[in-house]
Amino acid sequence: MTLTAIKSKTEAVNFVEVVLPVPLKRSFTYAVPQDVATRPELGQRVRVPFGKRRLIGFVTATHTEIPKDLDVDIKKLRPIIEFLDDEPLITPEILRLSEWTADYYASFWGETLKAALPAGMNSENVRPKRRKAVKLLDPALADHSKALTEQQSAILETLTDAGGEMLWIDLLDSANVGASPVNTLVKRRFLDVFVQDILRDPISAEKLPERPAFALTVHQDSALAAITDAIDESEFKAFLLHGVTGSGKTEVYFRAIRHSIAMGRSALMLVPEIALTPVFSRQLRSAFGTTVAILHSGLSQGERFDEWRRIRAGEARVAIGTRSAVFAPLENIGLIIVDEEHDASYRQRESPFYNARDVAVVRANFAGAVAVLGSATPAMESFHNAQNGKYTLLSMPERIGGRNLAAAELVDMREAFRRAGKDVALSAELLEAIGETASRGEQIIVLMNRRGFSQFVLCRTCGETIKCENCDITLTFHRRDGRLSCHYCGFGMPAPRVCPKCESEFLYFVGEGTENIADQLAKKFPALKIERIDRDSITRKGELEQKLRDFAEGRTDMLVGTQMIAKGHDFPNVTLVGVVGVDIGLGLPDLRSAERTFQMITQVAGRSGRGEKPGRVVIQTYHPDHYALKRSMAQDYEGFYGDELKFRENFRYPPFVALASIMVRHRDLSRAKSIANAIRRFLDAANPSKAVRIVGPASASIARLKNEYRMQLILRSESRRELRKVVDIALAEAEARGVEMRYVYVEIDPVSLM
Ligand SMILES: [Zn+2]
Ligand SMILES: [Zn+2]
Repeated sequence: MTLTAIKSKTEAVNFVEVVLPVPLKRSFTYAVPQDVATRPELGQRVRVPFGKRRLIGFVTATHTEIPKDLDVDIKKLRPIIEFLDDEPLITPEILRLSEWTADYYASFWGETLKAALPAGMNSENVRPKRRKAVKLLDPALADHSKALTEQQSAILETLTDAGGEMLWIDLLDSANVGASPVNTLVKRRFLDVFVQDILRDPISAEKLPERPAFALTVHQDSALAAITDAIDESEFKAFLLHGVTGSGKTEVYFRAIRHSIAMGRSALMLVPEIALTPVFSRQLRSAFGTTVAILHSGLSQGERFDEWRRIRAGEARVAIGTRSAVFAPLENIGLIIVDEEHDASYRQRESPFYNARDVAVVRANFAGAVAVLGSATPAMESFHNAQNGKYTLLSMPERIGGRNLAAAELVDMREAFRRAGKDVALSAELLEAIGETASRGEQIIVLMNRRGFSQFVLCRTCGETIKCENCDITLTFHRRDGRLSCHYCGFGMPAPRVCPKCESEFLYFVGEGTENIADQLAKKFPALKIERIDRDSITRKGELEQKLRDFAEGRTDMLVGTQMIAKGHDFPNVTLVGVVGVDIGLGLPDLRSAERTFQMITQVAGRSGRGEKPGRVVIQTYHPDHYALKRSMAQDYEGFYGDELKFRENFRYPPFVALASIMVRHRDLSRAKSIANAIRRFLDAANPSKAVRIVGPASASIARLKNEYRMQLILRSESRRELRKVVDIALAEAEARGVEMRYVYVEIDPVSLM
C-alpha cells in the first residue's frame, strides 16, 4: 500500500462516537453523512437524533469502520444532522480532562462536557457575531469614467483616514452619508463590502487603571521564586500558598502568570464567583492587555462565546474565570492558580458535581504544569495535603507594610441577654465600638450572614411556623416588600396578618436578618450613612460595584451585609468589623460548619485595619468557647486546623475517610424511599467485606426541597478505591435492573451533607 493510500484511508471517517448530555454512562455511534463539507473532529459539537429528540453532543472518537467489539447494526445507524462548529470548541486535552472528571465524580461524560462550557454556550444560537464592513480597493483598478460626487469623495477620505477599513454603519455615520453612494463606489470597484467577525470585548470601552510598580516583601519574593523555579522545571508540582489576609497574594499570582507567559506557556487563574468584579477585570486587563480572556457569569452569552474563541484560537494566553473556566481550552498550559481555594463556589452543586479546585490540580498534573492553591484559610483537605507532602507549603504570614492583624474580642450574648433582660440583636459593646469608630471618621463593616428581616414567623397560639409550599424550610420575612419568601426555591407569598392555621393574631417574627440589623443600626445612628449589601439589595447589574465604590470613597460610613462583603475588598479606612449572628452557621448540622465559620470570620476580620490605622473586630456569640471562634479571633489557622482535625477524626470525616453521598430526589415520597432502599440493597451486595460503611437511607436534613423529597445514603471508607468500586458496581447493577437512575444523585467528596 502506498503512503497516499494509507493516508486517505485513515482520513475517511465514516462513523463517530458521540457523548450526549444525558444520565447514561455510554457513548452513541452515528454515521457521518458523506455529502457535507465539514469532517468530524474530536471535541466537535454535533446535533444528532436521539429517540424522538434532537440533542447536541460531542464527538469523542472517530472510526473508518465500526470496531468489531462494538455491537451495532450499521444499517440502523442514524446520521449526524449538523456540525455546530467549524473548529472543535473542546481540545483533546479538555476531552481527556472531562472524561477523568466524569469518571472520578461518578457522573456522566456528556453532562460534564456540557458543564465544561461556560453557561449559555451550550445554546445552539450562540454563534460568532459578524457584521458588514467596507474596505478600500486599489484605486488604480477602479472605474474613473465619471467624476466623484462630494459624498463619494467624503466616503473615500473617511475610509483612508481610518486606515482603509471600517464597519459599514460606522462609515455611514462618520462620513454622514446614506447607503446609496457607498453602493455606487462598490459598483465602480473603489470599495469592497465584506463580512467581519466581531469580537465582543466586555471591557474594551472602559478606562484601565495604572498598575503601580512596587517591591515585593521577603515572603512574597520567596513564594514567587519557588513558583517560577517550578514553572522552569516544566514538571507538575502543586503548591499551597497560605497567606494571611492582606499579605499580597494577588501580586504573586500576577507575576507568576507573567513568568509563565514569558516562558512561552499559557496560564489559567480561577477565582470565586464573587471576586470577578468589574474592578478586578479592569486590573487584569491593565496587567495583561488583550492577552487575558475573562470568563464569568456577568458576561452576555455572546461575550462569553467570543472570550472562549479567543482562548481557543490562541489569541488569549491567560484565562481568568470562575468554576467552569477550569476547562478553558488553553494550550501548552504552564501555570494554574486557584485563588481562595477553600471557596464553596468551586463546587458545582448540581449534577455533574465536581470541585474545580481538585480538577485544576489534575489538569496541571496531566499538562506538566504548576498548580498554586492560595488562601488565608485553606480547606482542611488542602492543608492536610500540604502536611503530608502532596503539596508544597508556601507561607506568607505577614501583612504588607508590616501592619498588624486586627485585635479581636468576643461578646458573650448570654451576658448581654442577662443584662438587658430580653433578647437583643446588637450588644452594648458593639454599639459602643461603632459609636467610637464613627466619631473618629473611620468606617465600619457589620457582617450578618442571613438576609431578610426575620428568619421565620411563629404563631404563639398554635406553635405553627409558616413553611414553604415546596420545601421543608421556614419562610423568611422581608419587610420592605411585605412578603415571606423561601431562600431555597424562590417561592413567595404576602406576609399574613393572622396565622394561616388557627387565625390567631399573635404572630411572632423570630431571628434577625440583614434588613433588620441595618434598620436597628439606622435608628441608633441616624447621622451615619448605612448601606446594605445582600442578594435582596443588589438587584441591578453594577449595583454591588457602585455600593462598594461609594464605601471605598467614603460616601458611605457603614456596610451591613452577608458574606458578600467578607471577601477580597480593600477598604483602608475600615477599622471596625462587627460579626453578628455567627451562631447560625455554627449551629448547622454539617461536617464543614466549623470550618466555614472560621473561614468567614477570618475573611471579614481581614477587612479591618488594612490601612495605616489599627483595626478592631467584635464578634457576638452565644458559644464563646467554641474553638472555631477562639481560633479565628487569634487568626490562628494552624491552631484551628489541629482542633478541627480532631473533630474530623472522631466523626470519621475527610481527610480521614473518603466520603460519598447518594441522594434520591422524587416528588413522591414512597417512590423516593423505594428507590433509596433498592440502592441500599445493591450497595450491600457490592460490599461483602464491609470495607465501606453505609448509613441510610434516611431523610436528608432538608427533607423536601423544590417539591422533591430527599432520601440520603452516606458512604465512608478508609479506602477511596473500595468506596468507588462499591459505588460503581452497585449503580451499574441498579441501572441494569431497571432502577430509575435519573432520580439518583451521586456526590463524591461532597462539601456538604445537607
Ligand atoms: Zn396558629
Ligand atoms: Zn422553597
